[in-house]
Amino acid sequence: MFATLIARSDASCEFCEVASNLLPYSVGPLHDGTAMTSVLLCDKCSEMIDGKIEKNYFRCLSSAIWSEHDPVKVLAWRVLDMLSDQAWARDLKDQIYLDEVLMAWAISGVIRSSQHKDVNGVTLEAGNNVLLIKDLVVKGGGFTAKRGTAVRGISLVEDNPAHIEGKVEGQRITILTEFVKKK
Ligand SMILES: [Zn+2]
Repeated sequence: MFATLIARSDASCEFCEVASNLLPYSVGPLHDGTAMTSVLLCDKCSEMIDGKIEKNYFRCLSSAIWSEHDPVKVLAWRVLDMLSDQAWARDLKDQIYLDEVLMAWAISGVIRSSQHKDVNGVTLEAGNNVLLIKDLVVKGGGFTAKRGTAVRGISLVEDNPAHIEGKVEGQRITILTEFVKKK
């Protein structure tokens, strides 16, 4: 796996392109020990992710966001998400192209985000009303919650900033924050 990462990255950090002290960084929770779920990072980049982030350090992601490798994009998205109080970080994050599967992966492992935010990055609070922005199949509910449905008085799932709960058609369901817009 290490050899694959070295070849893929041309022996440089996949975030900042430095060529020393490189180690694989696991992109959870899908991590399966292969290069498909790992990113080759220098010691400085991994320390920043796991420890205290210097505000401007990850400006270096401006080229990594265009990587053709999924785990690099997913990890870059999560790091920029942690910095979403910075305008430059939001701009970079918006440029990362993630399809639905990759977006779900990115969100499922958000590293440190205490806030629930709607599709536009607007902070959601308990009791807010939201609109669904796409049709959602409710597993186990046997129905589809239609796009445009208003969900009133949501509650926040405390340990998961990507999830809120609300009542649709009389049933309490869990909804991904990326599929709602605050009213
Ligand atoms: Zn680096």
